[in-house]
Order: sequence, then C-alpha cells, then structure tokens
Amino acid sequence: MAKYKMLRDLVVDLPNTQLVEAPRASDTELLLAHDVSYVQRVISGTLSEAEQKEIGFPWSEKMVERSRRSVGATIAACHSAIEEGVAVNLAGGTHHAYRNKGSGFCVFNDAAIAARVLMKQAIGLQKIGILDLDVHQGDGTAAILQNDPAICTVSIHGEKNYPFAKTSSDLDIALADGSGDTIYLEALEQALAFLSKQGIEFLIYLAGADPFEGDRLGRLTLTKEGLALRDQQVMAFVRERGITIAIAMAGGYANPIDDTVGIHYQTIQIASAHQHTMSISKSRPSS
Ligand SMILES: [Zn+2]
Repeated sequence: MAKYKMLRDLVVDLPNTQLVEAPRASDTELLLAHDVSYVQRVISGTLSEAEQKEIGFPWSEKMVERSRRSVGATIAACHSAIEEGVAVNLAGGTHHAYRNKGSGFCVFNDAAIAARVLMKQAIGLQKIGILDLDVHQGDGTAAILQNDPAICTVSIHGEKNYPFAKTSSDLDIALADGSGDTIYLEALEQALAFLSKQGIEFLIYLAGADPFEGDRLGRLTLTKEGLALRDQQVMAFVRERGITIAIAMAGGYANPIDDTVGIHYQTIQIASAHQHTMSISKSRPSS
C-alpha cells in the first residue's frame, strides 16, 4: 500500500501535470460490470469470510470507499484522456475482480467498468481495447467482457503465475518463467498488431510494474530499461494511430518498494512526454 503515497509524492512535482482527487464510482457504474447481489454484499459489509479471504483483505467502510474511488479514478482518467489525449490513475488495474466476486486484492474491476461507461456514453466510440501488461493474467476482466464485442481484451502474463486457472481474453500471451526484455517486447509487438487489427479507438492500458526482475511476485526478468521500452512502444502505437489512452498502474511488489515506485513513475513520465509530443504536432502548422 505504501507505493501509492510514494508515487503521488513524486507526481505532485512533475511539470505539465494536474493532480485531481479520485471521484467515487456510483452504484450504477459498478453495476455495468458486477452483479447487483455482489455489489450489495460489498457495500453492506455482508461478504462471507471466504469471500473476504479470496479478496485478500478484510471488509471495512474504508475498503469500500477505496474500491469505489479506485474505479472512479479510472473512469475519470478515461474522461480526461478524451480531453487531454492521455491520463493516468495512480492506482487501479484491479483486474482479478469478477462479475460476482472479488479476488487477489481486487474488489471491483475498474477497467471493465470504465470501458463500459465509455461505451454507454454514446460519444461515438465503436471499439475499446484493454491492454493488460500486469504480470498476472487479467482473468476477471476477460471473464466479464468475454461476450462483449465492443471491448477487446489482451493480456501478456506469466504462464505459471497467479491466477493458476486462466480465463480466455481475446488474446492471451503466456510467457515462461524467467522471460526477459527481448521475449517480452516481441510479445508486445504481437499484442499491438492484434489490437491494431481490431480497429480500437480508445485504449485502457494496465501498466503493471510486476514483470520487473526484482519483483517478489513477478517470475519474469524485465529490466527497468525494458519496462521503459515497453511503455514507449505502447505510446508510439497509440500516437501513430490517433488512439486515446488512459493508464492504470496495476501491480508492483518489488523489494525495495522504491523500485516499483520508480517503474510506475517512469510510466507516467513517458505518458507525459507522449502528451507533449501530441500537443506539439497538433500546434504545428500543416504547411
Ligand atoms: Zn500483478
């Protein structure tokens, strides 16, 4: 949990960046991806012991508030991205939350909800992509959106890592333990080619810091430089195709935690540089 405050303390001093308090997602928004009975159990504090155990932390009023705001922040990032070209949720990426249950420290599925909010708004979007580069598979997101042709899910993850029973995204690329920068960036190229074929107009990117070699739960061996190349590759992809991008931080469990914070911060710096490039090319006269 410490990483969130540390990241915020860094971002506060980043030039050309505006920090906005995370709004709370409404019940109506939560219900775009979750069963009413599950949402009710979370809100009223009637989750069973087993359900709380699967989520990974006990129920409290604060847990509900935090979960709502984590979703609200991804929705807000999507809306800001439409205005600004790119925006980031400093938390989020709760991709193990299913329609009817939470799991792996995830209560509500922010990316699935935010994508559904965008589709419902009738702002002319036909196709949204969710690119999940957290090292753990986006199982909840894949399950919730399995039959949703408007939202395309892609996950690159560790084959042997949690969740041990995988669900099917529209594209899954499972990597062997110990995979490093080169294998990863090749897989990413494949993933981006797939998203390009789908004709997505908006991308929600889960920029997990946990493929890092120093991550306690990662099992892959990406370097910080490799992770920077990953983010740059994603930014170049959206820039070349005029795709709007909203980013959530997702997982990161390095020891020391400063490494995780550094990787998340690096993602935000690359996103900020991307936005700067876009605004320069927009303001440049066309002649
Ligand atoms: Zn993860």
